[in-house]
Amino acid sequence: MTNSFDIRVETLGKPAESLVASPVAAPETLLRHSNVARGTFFLETFGCQMNEHDSEKVAGLLLARGYQQVESPEAAGLILYNTCSIREKAAQKVFSRLGEYRGLKGEGKKIGLLGCVAQQEGEDIFSRAPWVSLVCGSASYRRLPELLARVEAGEQRVTGLDNDTDETFETEMTRRDNPWRAYLTIIEGCDKSCAYCVVPFTRGPERSRDSSRILAELHQLADFGYSEVQFLGQTVNSYADPSSRKMRFSELLLQAAQVPGIRRVRFTTSHPRDFTPDIISVMDANSKICNHVHLPVQSGSSRVLRAMQRTYSREEYLEKIAMIRSAKRRTAITTDVIVGFPGETAADFDETLSLLDAVKFDGVFSFKYSPRPNTLASTMLDAIPEEERSFRLGLLQERQRVIQSETLQSLVGEVYEVHVDGKSKKENSWYGHSSCNRVVSLTSSAPDLLGQYVKARVTACTANSLLGEQIFIS
Ligand code: SAM
Ligand code: SF4
Repeated sequence: MTNSFDIRVETLGKPAESLVASPVAAPETLLRHSNVARGTFFLETFGCQMNEHDSEKVAGLLLARGYQQVESPEAAGLILYNTCSIREKAAQKVFSRLGEYRGLKGEGKKIGLLGCVAQQEGEDIFSRAPWVSLVCGSASYRRLPELLARVEAGEQRVTGLDNDTDETFETEMTRRDNPWRAYLTIIEGCDKSCAYCVVPFTRGPERSRDSSRILAELHQLADFGYSEVQFLGQTVNSYADPSSRKMRFSELLLQAAQVPGIRRVRFTTSHPRDFTPDIISVMDANSKICNHVHLPVQSGSSRVLRAMQRTYSREEYLEKIAMIRSAKRRTAITTDVIVGFPGETAADFDETLSLLDAVKFDGVFSFKYSPRPNTLASTMLDAIPEEERSFRLGLLQERQRVIQSETLQSLVGEVYEVHVDGKSKKENSWYGHSSCNRVVSLTSSAPDLLGQYVKARVTACTANSLLGEQIFIS
């Protein structure tokens, strides 16, 4: 469903022409590596923010090695797809894209598949799409320089599929897409075992980055002019500092908020089980930590949550919501829901609807259950028929639409600080995000607001967004 919140769960990546070169390493690093002129590459990304940021790191790694990024597969010597397999549709999209480029190998182009589909399908991809030369999962990205060298040397079937690692993907340079808002991965992989989810199979075990490396990267980002950072992880709040410092997640947020030049610190996705009161305390203590929590619930029925192996009940989830709502700052809460999990009865589904009524989420990303390879749920009986899954999804989305529209109406008259990151086609029209991650469109007579933080009063709303005007506070 469309949303006034900006958490893209499954989208195609941005076209290359909209990207902004923003290395996180000093330019000398780039020069040191780029004394060898190499080829051109095109990189397309499918999937979540983690994938988008992985692609930014892969692009940085290639640029630092002397490759040039181009805007189309036609212009590229090396074509890379960073893929998503969270639902079947996402994986199919990858294969249909690959099919479009079946003839390119004959033209001397090299094609590589990265990410979750690569990890999941492994060497089978070579039989299904023999025009592919490289298959590499995210847990093996640190080996990419060596793997790419083998591809360039003419090897036909190069793989990086080792998933059992305790290492994280560190790059000297990251080629970020947005000049103001930077993603920063703090924890990779996942150690939870939700019955429906491929992530533990495709991204490997949970491994956190050293807190000092994270903070050093953040200082560097601030030096390059970034003012907003988004910490990323499949379960970002399960962060466990591997260094002797043993910094807690909440302390990391606080330290990040104190980096000079950083005005906003976000984090996603939080797992309900690991969402502890100290996180709320630091959000209250420092307004640079954004007042938005994305806390996927998946189902409102404790019975289904148990079958999903989510490790919390409906009541425990509601306790976490009460804790967030008890904060001094009004904090926006968004969630993910899966409908039609095997064995979900009409009564279970009603509990999910009643949870929406009880919590009144500010945004809901809802999905029909999709059976995935290797998962426990894929072997479960009592599959819910496709039409029923679609029917439930429609009901849920309609219920949330009504809730959201009431919430948006209630926000008319509020004043938000908006970090402007886009200009509309309409004259004097801009859009950006509030600290609570609402998308706000605003009018202003100022000549250029891009990258700026401005105050805006909400004057109206549409079904999904807030409309406002810039106000000047002396
Ligand atoms: N780590 C996050 C968490 O614990 O909730 C979720 C990460 S996953 C990339 C994003 C969302 O995709 C999940 O929250 C879930 O709602 C949805 N999802 C995952 N597997 C799915 C499946 N097999 N079918 C439908 N939706 C799924
Ligand atoms: Fe998947 Fe569960 Fe891990 Fe989230 S916590 S990535 S849903 S296994």
